Amino acid sequence: MNYGRTFNFSAGPAMMPEPVLEEIRDEMMNYRGSGMCVMEMSHRSKVFQQIADEAEADLRKLMSIPDNYKVLFIQGGATLQFAAVPWNLMKNGKAVYIETGAWSKKAIAEAKKYGEVIVAASSKDRNFSYIPDCSDLDIPEDADYVYICENETIHGLTYQQLPNTKGHILVSDQSSMFLSKPCNVADYGLIYAGVQKNVGPAGMAIVIIREDLIREDLDPKMPVYLRYDTHAKAGSMYNTPNCWDIYCCGKVFKYLLQIGGLEEMARRNADKAKVLYDFLDGSEMFHGTVDKEFRSLMNVPFVTASAELDAEVVAASKAAGFDNLKGHKSVGGLRASIYNAMPKEGVEALVEFLKKFEAERK
Ligand SMILES: *Cc1c(COP(=O)(O)O)cnc(C)c1O
Repeated sequence: MNYGRTFNFSAGPAMMPEPVLEEIRDEMMNYRGSGMCVMEMSHRSKVFQQIADEAEADLRKLMSIPDNYKVLFIQGGATLQFAAVPWNLMKNGKAVYIETGAWSKKAIAEAKKYGEVIVAASSKDRNFSYIPDCSDLDIPEDADYVYICENETIHGLTYQQLPNTKGHILVSDQSSMFLSKPCNVADYGLIYAGVQKNVGPAGMAIVIIREDLIREDLDPKMPVYLRYDTHAKAGSMYNTPNCWDIYCCGKVFKYLLQIGGLEEMARRNADKAKVLYDFLDGSEMFHGTVDKEFRSLMNVPFVTASAELDAEVVAASKAAGFDNLKGHKSVGGLRASIYNAMPKEGVEALVEFLKKFEAERK
């Protein structure tokens, strides 16, 4: 059906799969005979408990999450996790962070309020256009964890290989790449993601944490909501959870399982991103800003030779029916976020538009 929807290249909140939106619409007024919308439902009701249980079970299946990991649904987005990670995991008060762009910088700033942060590698020298070598980092023996932002949403770069943590716990912010490809959860101590980039509506983060890292011997002054043990003990229902978000995310998990899981999603994402990167590599007017081997498949920043021309392209793209292509001010130019739910046709249409724009200006 044609709903007159636009190809929305927003970095987040972002597109959701159309079949999921249709299902949500169909269940809006009366969820499966319950007589109410999920938005109106008690989180303590049997019917909602089943929605939450199924969402967790489907996510576990999708990512093959080992039994010794807890899945937590926590409000406050990814930003609250910038604080929750150091407050919960810093036992010795010391952690190693890798600085690769705007989001790891924010996490570093927040962690510094709580403990000692050692930035063991950075790509700041070239405005975060590459991932630094993390094969032989200088990691103090007593560091509590090594932290990465696995896909930098603003600068558009991603890890090809996880850092060598030399036996230390790895913590990863996967917000803008969550469920975009298979992930070996056992490689991590903790994974978290704000869901509004690649899964569902804004307002929640999913935390996947190895059970033995959930501590009770925490600073007693710590806000109760910030403690992972609070959420783990209460099955993510210590207080009223974001019921609507859990419901919508659950639908997306089912959708991903149905299309063939994360292998199939990864195949589609690679195929889709190639259309745009191939165009950028052949273009004289447009250029990608990230070193080829570290290019993100989710967020594609690109520029022309001048800020004036960039602005013209953005304006023209809007007039042509594309949305949210303006780049972040720290990189400039344009940025196309092409998450899981962006169809290949959207990327093909964008490339056609850019080709035409370039041809007309020659
Ligand atoms: C968007 C984003 C965040 C912040 O997410 P909120 O849910 O808005 O707090 C953190 N990290 C990354 C990598 C992001 O893309």
